[in-house]
Amino acid sequence: MNVYDSERIAAILKNMGYKAADDVRDADLILFNTCHIREKAAEKLFSDLGRIEIIKNERAERGLETIIGVVGCVVQAENEQIAKRAPYVNFATGPLTYYRIPEILQRIANEKNICIIDTDFPAESKFDHLPQNDHTGGCAYLAIQEGCNNFCTYCIVPYTRGVETSRPIEDILHEARNLVNNGVLEINLLGQNVNSFHGEDKNGREQNLAYLLNKMAEIEGLQRLRYTTSYPADMNDELIKCHHDIEKLMPYLHLPLQSGSDKILKAMNRRHTSGQYLEIVEKLKEANPNIGMSSDFIVGFPGETDADFQATMDMVQKVNFIQAFSFKYSRRAGTPAAVYPNQVEEKVKKERLEILQNELFSRQLNFNKGCVGKIMPILFESKGRKKGEIFGRSPYMQTVIVKSGTENINRIKNVKITSGGMNALCGEL
Ligand code: SAH
Ligand code: SF4
Repeated sequence: MNVYDSERIAAILKNMGYKAADDVRDADLILFNTCHIREKAAEKLFSDLGRIEIIKNERAERGLETIIGVVGCVVQAENEQIAKRAPYVNFATGPLTYYRIPEILQRIANEKNICIIDTDFPAESKFDHLPQNDHTGGCAYLAIQEGCNNFCTYCIVPYTRGVETSRPIEDILHEARNLVNNGVLEINLLGQNVNSFHGEDKNGREQNLAYLLNKMAEIEGLQRLRYTTSYPADMNDELIKCHHDIEKLMPYLHLPLQSGSDKILKAMNRRHTSGQYLEIVEKLKEANPNIGMSSDFIVGFPGETDADFQATMDMVQKVNFIQAFSFKYSRRAGTPAAVYPNQVEEKVKKERLEILQNELFSRQLNFNKGCVGKIMPILFESKGRKKGEIFGRSPYMQTVIVKSGTENINRIKNVKITSGGMNALCGEL
């Protein structure tokens, strides 16, 4: 979502006449788009700002002005901290208000030496104010929904991105067609809880994600479709059926489980049990036997015992995830779980994360090795690290590297997989 937002911010700036600087020392304007999901992500901002202050001072000695702005969820949650710890920041604006950057920059130009902080949750949609999405390249993100009403007890998102809102279907289809006209072959529909989507169609009727996916699939020239991130309790039968009916929908689903323990899932306020999760996976596999599952996990949530952690390990074995993200629980001020009394020791969190990741990584490696000898359609994205190589993504989001000239970038080509490591596969066109 932040990658998408950053692209949209870049488009706003381009419209104002800005050009990307090759070196940060030449930049008149430096923006940070930030994440507040875990403490580490938020702390990164402050260490980066410290480095940028030095550059701002060096530029001032050369008589050059530098405007520093912070965008995103850290602003929503820690605007006072930003003003205190980094008083040289000129403006800070939340993830829902960055469309106002032109007027903020105008005010700064007029008034000088002001610090503007905008943490508004506006009634209007930012999407109505953004310039056209002119992303080029083979894959694009497209935000269809923002915010979340689920209030998982560990999660800061409902407080930083606000309540759930869905974009109108026609606006999404318009953006998608435009992307496809620009040469985009794959679109990943984005939202914090994308399957609670309920955007209005042109007759003003609310429609769900399954409806939108079917409409998207009709777009000629669009080859691949994905959606991220899903919430298990909202995986309804109609949506599952899309994995059978829609050929363009990739056979890969990121469906965060968080924990395998029903006690912990309840304490997290997730509206599903591990048993219900397994039922959903079963149905998905019936709809498309080739589907690969991915997940997020949190270890060391308050009250998590060895037995609860074991339940998570059991689920990893039962579902056989082909890929997953895993994190130590991070206390986010203002969320209910941050003040739960039974916090888990850092040492225990670390140990559990290591055990879980070893298991997840070895399953990922097994899956990747199992692809050797297969022919997969790869959408090439970019030049590889080595000369004469390019890389792209398989239907399962695996990175695939082949020897080829750049003419195949932004194209889908069949590749025979010749080797498989943890992080990437190699193959031949
Ligand atoms: N909306 C999605 C993902 C939201 S954030 C969902 O409901 O699954 C992405 C991931 O960050 C979450 O799935 C969760 O695993 C992790 N996360 C969120 N808050 C966290 C916290 N306080 N500590 C550790 N991980 C967290
Ligand atoms: Fe956060 Fe996802 Fe839960 Fe919403 S559903 S509160 S975004 S973890």
